[in-house]
Amino acid sequence: MPALPPERRRILELCGTEPPFSSPLLEEHRNGTFVCGGCGAPLFSSGAKFESGSGWPSFFDVLEKGAVATRTDADHGMTRIEVTCAKCGGHLGHVFPDGPQPTGLRYCINGLALDFAPEKTG
Ligand SMILES: [Zn+2]
Repeated sequence: MPALPPERRRILELCGTEPPFSSPLLEEHRNGTFVCGGCGAPLFSSGAKFESGSGWPSFFDVLEKGAVATRTDADHGMTRIEVTCAKCGGHLGHVFPDGPQPTGLRYCINGLALDFAPEKTG
């Protein structure tokens, strides 16, 4: 696999966070699948994407149970639930319990940790 660009490595490997409102994926409204920027594993469906206003791509559910792994992250003086790719272990973002129904979850994901694969039409 080719080496990841440094800005992606900073998120996926070093658990970085991109600046809010910086991701072009915020404006991605086509049907398709958001896949891991590190390994290409399918992670989130466009159907679960919603406008959270946080400045990061947000989803209320994962594509398939087990696509992501979570662990408690007590860094930075607050306890959050970190979301990682279940396949490669890359850092994706965090999940918060203030999302819309039916899950009530908000997966707050760095756009740099994702690639978008548009649904094939025709
Ligand atoms: Zn991955």
